[in-house]
Amino acid sequence: MALEFRSYKDDAWYDARVVTEGRRGTRLRIKFFNFGDDQDEFVHAKNLKKLQDVDVLRSRFRKISVQFQDTDCSRVEPGLLVCAARPVGDGDLKFYDAVFRGVVKKEHQIVKGVEVCKCTFILDWIDNGESGSCTVENICRVQDTSDEELDPVLISFLNKARERIESTFCTRLRITSGDVYDLRAPHKASFSQMLSDASRSTAAMALGGSVEGMGADSDSLRISYEAADPKKRYKASFSQPLVFE
Ligand SMILES: [Zn+2]
Repeated sequence: MALEFRSYKDDAWYDARVVTEGRRGTRLRIKFFNFGDDQDEFVHAKNLKKLQDVDVLRSRFRKISVQFQDTDCSRVEPGLLVCAARPVGDGDLKFYDAVFRGVVKKEHQIVKGVEVCKCTFILDWIDNGESGSCTVENICRVQDTSDEELDPVLISFLNKARERIESTFCTRLRITSGDVYDLRAPHKASFSQMLSDASRSTAAMALGGSVEGMGADSDSLRISYEAADPKKRYKASFSQPLVFE
């Protein structure tokens, strides 16, 4: 699916498409139309550390901008966001965003029965703030683009990146709150709960030592066994908090 992508190399807009690569699709490859594979750009999901990074990547994609028509010079209103070609150092034209300011009118020609605009479009380039101009064949109307209008491959990549960032954040939160839970645990009535695999390791961390360091390893096995007997649970619950002192 064709998209417009703002290159990381020169911040110009290009027609492109995306594919995901890697075992779990964690690498996004951006392929440019009319350019070789050696010009491909890549985004690794692991390099998207914050939700903001994902949003910035998303902002580099949009629907293909719509080429102005030869009759648009008398229709378009100043203030319109456009993407237009600008000469760059090596004689190329590259497409950058600009605000359309107005038209210097010139009489249209008829070529083979078709009206051809000869006007000059006046612009303010957004990236450098300078004024410029171009002709009708080099100016396009930028389109607002919802996620639904972009390639599902891209949207899936972005969503997975967001989910990973959010789950990492939640894990950190759990570890933090887990410390609080474990520090309070010795005051809880049921020590048997503390002997679950998950809480055993975090309890040890929270208390600043290993389970072995507390000398509780063999005891914990015994207590687990005893706690499995409902009659002994009461005893186990109250005999064990000493381990944490
Ligand atoms: Zn015109």
